[in-house]
Amino acid sequence: MTEIYNFCAGPAMLPKPVMQRAQAEFLNWNNTGCSVMELSHRGAEFMQLASGAEADLRELLSIPDNYKVLFCHGGGRGQFSAVALNFLGAGKTADYVVTGSWSKSAVSEAKKFGDIRVIDAVTEHEGNKKVVPSEQWNINKDAAYVHYCPNETVDGIEIFDIPETGDIPLVADMSSTILSRPIDISKFGLIYAGAQKNIGPSGLTIVIVRGDLIGKQQIATPVILDYKVTADNSSMFNTPPTYAWYLASLVFQWLKQLGGVEAMAKINQEKAQCLYNYVDDSDFYYNKIAVENRSTMNVPFYLSNEALNSEFLAQAKTAGLLALKGHRMVGGMRASIYNAMPIDGVNALVNFMKKFAREHS
Ligand SMILES: *Cc1c(COP(=O)(O)O)cnc(C)c1O
Repeated sequence: MTEIYNFCAGPAMLPKPVMQRAQAEFLNWNNTGCSVMELSHRGAEFMQLASGAEADLRELLSIPDNYKVLFCHGGGRGQFSAVALNFLGAGKTADYVVTGSWSKSAVSEAKKFGDIRVIDAVTEHEGNKKVVPSEQWNINKDAAYVHYCPNETVDGIEIFDIPETGDIPLVADMSSTILSRPIDISKFGLIYAGAQKNIGPSGLTIVIVRGDLIGKQQIATPVILDYKVTADNSSMFNTPPTYAWYLASLVFQWLKQLGGVEAMAKINQEKAQCLYNYVDDSDFYYNKIAVENRSTMNVPFYLSNEALNSEFLAQAKTAGLLALKGHRMVGGMRASIYNAMPIDGVNALVNFMKKFAREHS
């Protein structure tokens, strides 16, 4: 059988060793005679798994002790509401930096809960996009926080430098970049990420939040979006997504074995370079993002002859290369190459692209 490589933006592929281990222990986890998904989240066995996962994530990202790690429901979009509900007190305002489709969606949701000021930070010239350097963002000194999205999954735009916001807490939607490279957590007030790109399956959302920022939630904050309640109850105020939490714990162990986030970042760079280099060298394909803002995780590209799009996708699928269609808002193609995508998958894609270009030039 042809090896299948799944380039889906999310839910995305998971590391094969993780899936194999989950399969092996599916019916009898840890000698309990049960599947891990059948166990009480408050039982000793699951509690141990839960705290082990947190410890591994803390180690992988060097999370300082004054930060809480929360295992939540509700995905990235749940956090669009939660951030505003927890951080935007009465009469407060927040700055939202817009660099693409997800940061824009975050604005629409946050506007329901408070006064949101938008900073448009992408310039477009003849279809080519570039992020305005963060020193020019003109942040409001009275903002309760600044929200941005370091990796725009749909647009393929990444911001590599961490914006300097002084005393104003920096909030980042890292759904599609967390664990892809080292980050200095201490520069952030809060980081959130839906799991289904780089952490595990959908259904779990990770929040990393500086302890002193918790406890200022609006009165009407739903209890399951309340950071204080979640933190005080070790993310078990209601039933957490236990199976997703378990799979995330296996992903963290896999990453540690591989050499951690530094080692992963090297592999990710190699994968992205391989793909961007080929796209740049070829007249058949092109990418519209400024080199310094090109995402390492989500690589959008276009065929110069768009009439060939559906044939490209059909042939790619036959070759075992799945889910390469770009998001409907931007069109073209997109290869999502998260941590779980091996370099072999990227090589297979580039070889297919070369062959397709030869046969259609
Ligand atoms: C996928 C994604 C989201 C949305 O996540 P859901 O879990 O579907 O709510 C939000 N932000 C970014 C950057 C994403 O990539």
